Amino acid sequence: MKIHEYQAKELFKQYGIKVPASVLCEKKENIEQTIKNFTFPCVIKAQVHSGARGKAGGVKLAEDYNSAIITAEKILGMELTSKQAGTKKVNKILIEQAVNIDKELYLSLTFDRANEAIALIISNQGGMDIEETAKISPDKIYTQLITDNFNPEETVKKLGFNSIINWQICSIINSLYRLVKEKDALMAEINPLVITKHHEVIALDAKINFDDNALFRHEDILALKDEAEENPCELQAQKEGLNYIKLNGTIGCMVNGAGLAMATMDVIRLAGKEAANFLDVGGGASSDKIEKAFKILISDKNLKAVFINIFGGILRCDFLAEGVKNAIQNLNIDIPVIVRMEGTNKSKGADILNHSGLKFTVVNDLNEAIEVIKNI
Ligand code: GDP
Ligand code: MN
Repeated sequence: MKIHEYQAKELFKQYGIKVPASVLCEKKENIEQTIKNFTFPCVIKAQVHSGARGKAGGVKLAEDYNSAIITAEKILGMELTSKQAGTKKVNKILIEQAVNIDKELYLSLTFDRANEAIALIISNQGGMDIEETAKISPDKIYTQLITDNFNPEETVKKLGFNSIINWQICSIINSLYRLVKEKDALMAEINPLVITKHHEVIALDAKINFDDNALFRHEDILALKDEAEENPCELQAQKEGLNYIKLNGTIGCMVNGAGLAMATMDVIRLAGKEAANFLDVGGGASSDKIEKAFKILISDKNLKAVFINIFGGILRCDFLAEGVKNAIQNLNIDIPVIVRMEGTNKSKGADILNHSGLKFTVVNDLNEAIEVIKNI
């Protein structure tokens, strides 16, 4: 789960990481009153779950009161389009005291699955072009795996700053590490972490990504979830207890079991098409659940067909067929539906679909499925 910069900065404060003074603003009518409390320059920052807001026009420095107001009014409510997150409406802005930047660094703690450890990644070439740095001069980015007797000092020394700065950076790394461990974050990033002209080290940006599977033990973090930022279909699916992830292809798929769902996406690829989603309806899906799953699937405007691939174990094929038939009737689905069933009561299931008077393509195996999907 992602949170907003302003929320991450509140957490930073709790852990003793310095951030600039700021106030959140959600309504146009509050802009003037909020900006009155600032000295200038100040920075207006779009609060959306997206990186690269700066390049997308969502972060602007304002030199005086009037331009701050004009800028804030422009950013609050704007549609922000970034490479990373597509187009998003800006519902909140953070108004922040500007900082006199001497140097922009990059700092992150990321869960490194291959090494089963958290990795510290740091560079003295931070800021908006960090991706470029990673490509052009990867030697400027230092990585250290965090072990039991972790001490960031050696890595931090490589950045080439004096000991007063180094001490501040090390202290921020230790605080950030404590935050990541205590709150079960998968990633915490500060880009830029800046050294000011007054030799202070301050977090100018803040991104944290939490482990969804650990949220049950962090009510405080779960409370930070901004539903407006979630994909509406995925949110709906979560509420229905379905495992759904929206993707960019045209073939919707409904599958039971996560492994089979992945294999099904491979099959769609083999047919030269892309999956529109990942959907695991689970082992004991009821007819009602299947209909709900269909509803979520067909809300996708890119959809050209639905491929149902079910292994009838706990969920019997005839039971599934009833559910699918009802859903298609009730929801008036008029795109092709391809069904591959295997397992308990397979032929009974096929009979129900074939005699439903509706248009299904019941295939016998995955090779046949590929042939049908190819021609969509
Ligand atoms: P991002 O583009 O979504 O990562 O947003 P950031 O919060 O990182 O802001 C983008 C850039 O705006 C930073 O890399 C800084 O160069 C600049 N910026 C942000 N806050 C300040 C500030 O207080 N003073 C100055 N001079 N620049 C700032
Ligand atoms: Mn940033």
